[in-house]
Amino acid sequence: MRATTDWPEGVIARYLTHAAELLHDPDLTVDVAKGTEESTATCRGCGIRWRKWAYETGAVKQWAQQHAEKCRALPRPTA
Ligand SMILES: [Zn+2]
Repeated sequence: MRATTDWPEGVIARYLTHAAELLHDPDLTVDVAKGTEESTATCRGCGIRWRKWAYETGAVKQWAQQHAEKCRALPRPTA
């Protein structure tokens, strides 16, 4: 498997999706980012985004891990 890519600013946790495990593609992750007001989880496979207040980051991480474990989506290839 390739080395993971750099984490974008604000990303505090990253979970490898099921598709990433199957394809050995470390770019397929669910990223958890914490801002001043809200925390978000964004799946780089299917594009779904989930958000909660910043103080609920634990719940966002939990959702991200659960989503990552079952997400088999592949992003549409770019050019
Ligand atoms: Zn997904």
